[in-house]
Amino acid sequence: MPTYRIAIVGAGPAGYFSAQSLQNSQDENRVFAIDLFERLPTPWGLVRNGVAPDHPKIKSVSKVFEKIASDPNFQLFGNVELGRDISIEQLKENYDAVILATGSSVGRKLGIPGEELPGSLSAADFVPWYNGHPDYVNCDVPLNGKNAIVIGAGNVAMDCGRMLALDPAELDSTDTADYALAAFHQSSIRNVTIVGRRGPEHAAFTSPEIRELPKLENTDVIISEFGIESAKIRVAEQLEGNKELRNNLEAMLEVSQSPSRNHERKLAINFLLTPLEIIGSEKVEAIRFARNEVINDKVSATSEIIELPCNLVITAIGYQVLPIPGVEFANGKVVNENGHVAENLYVVGWAKRGPNGVIGTNKSDSSDVIKLLLAKLPSAAKENSDISKIIKNHRVITQPGWQKINEAEVEQGEAVGKPRRKLTVWSELLSLGQE
Ligand code: NAP
Repeated sequence: MPTYRIAIVGAGPAGYFSAQSLQNSQDENRVFAIDLFERLPTPWGLVRNGVAPDHPKIKSVSKVFEKIASDPNFQLFGNVELGRDISIEQLKENYDAVILATGSSVGRKLGIPGEELPGSLSAADFVPWYNGHPDYVNCDVPLNGKNAIVIGAGNVAMDCGRMLALDPAELDSTDTADYALAAFHQSSIRNVTIVGRRGPEHAAFTSPEIRELPKLENTDVIISEFGIESAKIRVAEQLEGNKELRNNLEAMLEVSQSPSRNHERKLAINFLLTPLEIIGSEKVEAIRFARNEVINDKVSATSEIIELPCNLVITAIGYQVLPIPGVEFANGKVVNENGHVAENLYVVGWAKRGPNGVIGTNKSDSSDVIKLLLAKLPSAAKENSDISKIIKNHRVITQPGWQKINEAEVEQGEAVGKPRRKLTVWSELLSLGQE
């Protein structure tokens, strides 16, 4: 019975769901030996470094990942970077198929003046910072002003806005990085405004995320009721046939009608404002917007310009892939046809389809790509070779090494009533993770 060797690059949800789909496709004719390569010393991708710490239920999918990793034919190669420690050509030579699951980690830019000022940063920096990603520990997140603006009307903007606006005591029992939790406790930010360039009817938030806002214990959430009613009138004809739109607008309307509790902390969601310029001499001081209007479902600028004073601007307007040497990119993703890139090379997840969809989306998406991969698999498997002799790095974190890190974090966290206390320093992770 042939054992096919499959390399997956990137230990996030798309990588694990691809491994799971391969494991589920084994039968009396073929077995899959899966090697999962990850640049960081820790796996789980966005489940560890992206999902907001106040959403612990979403992180429970990590149990599924660990079950996939418990298969005797599965190996983790953490702290192995594609292009540095191993090349795409070496992987293609040594494996029957290679699957890129590298995500998209680069924040898209607004491209407006002032975007480079201190105090203006991307969600692609802010989110991994509060999640303890070891590359972002030293990210400068100035929380010493009163007003923060978050640009974008998607769930990442919502996460950023919520994390800035909530009472940090609500984070004490979460796995927020220790340094970020301390910074949130010291934070002077009291007014957070999430800003969408189009109308409420075009917002990319999903309704569960909107509906949970009034549950913030010490934060008032402000949405204009008139703004939502106006949007409902504009899309009245679409509401019956479009459940998602109906749910979103209903959820926003409910939030807009919830009475103010006179909390000092405020989270507002404003619509129809296009950012034009971030203003400040040495750091962010304000942001200027063009007011937009919607006519016949088309959004266009009015002549009105408004300026909001702020000390922090977080841009949450989507992501693009970090280029990998030897792989062609276009429009922020890997060039592919339904996940097929080249001879025995495939791509899954955000690197394949762009930065959209929730974690579960990757399950069906990966499974579709694996079906294609299986259909193209040659009848004979490649000769077995020892990949660890090829990797140019002697501090590989294996599955048992990662388990040591995982157990230490959970043990330290449970002692203080948290799910885990993340280790955030490369050297500590690497020394603890040696077998
Ligand atoms: P997203 O859902 O695509 O939202 C991006 C937002 O940025 C949109 O509102 C978009 O507005 C806006 N935008 C884009 N370019 C802009 C510009 N130049 N100026 C101003 N605004 C601009 O992306 P995301 O928030 O990064 O989320 C990515 C995916 O992860 C989504 O599928 C999301 O649902 C998912 N996610 C889920 C959760 C959760 O389940 N809790 C949490 C986080 C993320 P336009 O529509 O006008 O282009």
